[in-house]
Amino acid sequence: MRIFASSGAPGHDPGQLNRTASGSDNYYVEVAQRFDAIAAGVAEAGFADPLDPPDEGLRPILAVHSANLVRTVRTAIERAIKEGEASAENPGAVLIPETFPIKARSAAQGPNPGFEPSIWSDLGTHSFDTSSPIFGGTWAAAYGAAQAAIAAANDLVDGRDRAMALVRPPGHHAMRDAMGGFCYFNNAAVGAELLRKSGRRVAVLDVDVHHGNGTQEIFWNTPDVLTASIHMNPSYEYPYYWGFANETGGEAAPDSNLNLPLPVGTDDTAYRAALDLALDRIRNFGPEAIVVPLGVDTYAGDPIGRFDLSSDAYPRIGAAISALGVPILVTQEGGYDLATIGSHVARFLTGCFE
Ligand SMILES: [Zn+2]
Repeated sequence: MRIFASSGAPGHDPGQLNRTASGSDNYYVEVAQRFDAIAAGVAEAGFADPLDPPDEGLRPILAVHSANLVRTVRTAIERAIKEGEASAENPGAVLIPETFPIKARSAAQGPNPGFEPSIWSDLGTHSFDTSSPIFGGTWAAAYGAAQAAIAAANDLVDGRDRAMALVRPPGHHAMRDAMGGFCYFNNAAVGAELLRKSGRRVAVLDVDVHHGNGTQEIFWNTPDVLTASIHMNPSYEYPYYWGFANETGGEAAPDSNLNLPLPVGTDDTAYRAALDLALDRIRNFGPEAIVVPLGVDTYAGDPIGRFDLSSDAYPRIGAAISALGVPILVTQEGGYDLATIGSHVARFLTGCFE
């Protein structure tokens, strides 16, 4: 198995926004140290060193994202400087949307023919929350992560049976036209779409503790991609608006989406029951490739996930997916306990070889 890596670039570190005196503010948990922690765990388990992906350009990213989202992420800092909202001399500039064009704008007043977009209106238009800050290094990080997913997907197209994109920032919350949830581009969807275009039926099995809302939305009307997600119940957990069990696919692709929301405190046994349901569904779908957005924020000790999985769950989950006998592409998503993420990712990968 080859692992393609993107460290997220040191210039993209939301952790620098956690500045309360007590140190207790852990809102921006997608910190730069995550990459080193995961890479160390994977190396310790004996996997070969990660490779730099080749640059395949924007086309595979634009296959699943709007040009406006891509342009907003790419040009945000430079536009903010041009519009006088940031200073070229201030390397610590960060852009976080403050306003969102909710229904009042379009329903009551209708579109304004004289509207002039600004960096702030574009950020609000192409974000669904405030958790994807843009720094000077964000474009390089998000672009690099997508390139790693492309390279890993190409390994499967070339006939290899396992590949991984060891990346940050993560991607599974990113929608076609909107960033959010620490995500900018949906690396798993970029890989899945590339595999789909190669003629394969693709199943996406999202095992992050949060619902893979972006992947669900991107493939909502795509009958040859099955999306499945096992996650905390969105009626009280992020991302709140998506992830309910009755979301089963769009008109053009009925029954192409499976959501398995589970309660706080879900343990290994309850998780395994849901995983078996998802695997049955995937088996019946008959996929020729499986994309696994891998979050290890399902761990009992994760600072934001509220499942109760043990360390031993990860090799078992990997082995259960491996038993489908289908090539697997893994993309790194969440997992925020720096002391254990590396070993949990490594143990999942080890399970994938059983
Ligand atoms: Zn997560």
